[in-house]
Amino acid sequence: MTTEPVATAEAGRDFIRDIIQADLDSKKHSRIVTRFPPEPNGYLHLGHAKSIALNFGIAQEFSGRCHLRFDDTNPTKEEQEYIDSIQADVRWLGYDWGSDLFYASDYFDRLYEWAETLIRDGHAYVDDQSQAEIRHNRGTLTEPGQNSPFRDRSVEENLDLFRRMKAGEFQNGARVLRAKIDMASGNINLRDPVLYRILHAHHPRTGTTWSIYPSYDYAHGQSDAIEGITHSICTLEFEDHRPLYEWLLDRLPVPSKPHQYEFARLNLTYTLLSKRVLTMLVRDGHVAGWDDPRMPTIAGLKRRGVPPEAVREFIKRIGVAKSNSVVDLGMLEFSIRECLNHTALRRMAVLKPLKVVITNYPEGQVEELEAINHPDDPAAGTRRIAFSRELYIEQDDFMENPPKKFFRLSPGNEVRLRYAYFIKCTDVVKNAAGEITELRCTYDPATKGGNAPDGRKVKATMHWLSAAQSVPAEIRIYNQLFQNPAPDAANFAGDINPQSLEILSDARVEPAIAETNSPDAIQFERQGYFVRDRDSTPDHPVFNRTIGLRDTFAKEVGKG
Ligand code: ATP
Ligand code: MG
Repeated sequence: MTTEPVATAEAGRDFIRDIIQADLDSKKHSRIVTRFPPEPNGYLHLGHAKSIALNFGIAQEFSGRCHLRFDDTNPTKEEQEYIDSIQADVRWLGYDWGSDLFYASDYFDRLYEWAETLIRDGHAYVDDQSQAEIRHNRGTLTEPGQNSPFRDRSVEENLDLFRRMKAGEFQNGARVLRAKIDMASGNINLRDPVLYRILHAHHPRTGTTWSIYPSYDYAHGQSDAIEGITHSICTLEFEDHRPLYEWLLDRLPVPSKPHQYEFARLNLTYTLLSKRVLTMLVRDGHVAGWDDPRMPTIAGLKRRGVPPEAVREFIKRIGVAKSNSVVDLGMLEFSIRECLNHTALRRMAVLKPLKVVITNYPEGQVEELEAINHPDDPAAGTRRIAFSRELYIEQDDFMENPPKKFFRLSPGNEVRLRYAYFIKCTDVVKNAAGEITELRCTYDPATKGGNAPDGRKVKATMHWLSAAQSVPAEIRIYNQLFQNPAPDAANFAGDINPQSLEILSDARVEPAIAETNSPDAIQFERQGYFVRDRDSTPDHPVFNRTIGLRDTFAKEVGKG
């Protein structure tokens, strides 16, 4: 066996990394092997991202390996689509399993052999009780369970029945194989847990070869052992499963003895991180699919324009702890804004356009002005934007009867159009219903570039677009999917935010925006970060708002 040099973690330390460092220092292990073990029964979400970053991150930092292992032991819920999406999402997050791609189903033969070993050694038996009877006889947290009437079957009878289960002789649910541990154990997981159940189902990888499938608890630890996992890292709810994990490893001829460690799962305000809930959101049409930008899935974050670095940065910030807590969604948003502020190119877009006619600007004239692509990064360069007699500004940037502190455009008030000129509003044009349809303004030719030679100041700088030289676009504004900071997982429909998606179909964008095919979010000045959606067509660009520039949500809730 070759041993690679052992690196020391440079990234943030936590109790798991401390344990690993100690195991390397004491030579308990010469090389660390972790795994990320998803069940392919849904798309990955932010909670999984935490586990991925931990397991793959540790492998990177300590020069070890991290396996991607599909825990594909429940064929009724598993699909190839999920297997594919999980691989794509782990890669998108920036992690690589190299050649270490595994499936629990690869071990079905060995797991079966070992189940016979348990039977032969008197550690497992076939139980004919129904699921309901087993549940009923399991007892409660305060009362011990009842032994099954089938618990003392002979080894021969158990072997015979188990082989016939495997041969497909019995109906679903007719029998199970159970570990023979202790029906009075204070730990319910040790009350003769189910190891195999009968399931006549087509498996994405093994087809109809099997009529019995191992339980999660039986398959998981043994798969870890087969793969030589040194540190089997999982979430806290598996803490009570650890005695069973060890009980099985102690009784089977496994090639290695992994150790299980538990950390706190990620919980986020305004968010439900549960595949069960996410599956229902998709199935019941509350969202447009697994990659709907409102979903906390990796695919949803990607489609929303969140960069993978922001997800990694967020996970680094929240750290790894031993007790459960709820993280403020604002922390994720902070990481996204911080990341995009550095990287996103600046452009102008008008989300809710109001037409402006510059009455003293020559008809038919178009001039090109220079705009910078990133204020902190001169290397990002500049671009030309067209100015003409007919412009669009944002409806919200004009008020006919402004309150005292309103410094943007209003009758008689002068403002700066970014990169262009000072303008002043002279007239307000309305339709028969009294709605403002157009503004008449004048510009000061001496203020080209946005500064007055006489040194006079304006209090507002606004974005704008030339009417003829801008492109129509659809813009999708996403808000929290749940309006309750702690949505009820059992009854989430009532907590869904009816305003989670707002579609602006009359927006205008710079041609430079419409022409982009970049998967990276760009900043629409003064509005936020946006990314081109895959629903775009050449005639109809569609942009998703990744996130606004500031955290306005708390304020809006406060107002309501
Ligand atoms: P869910 O709770 O959404 O149904 P799961 O735990 O059933 O998810 P798995 O595919 O079994 O989904 O998860 C793979 C790994 O991801 C497991 O090791 C699990 O502990 C971890 N994981 C799942 N949810 C979270 C979370 N919210 N925070 C951290 N890790 C998580
Ligand atoms: Mg699970």
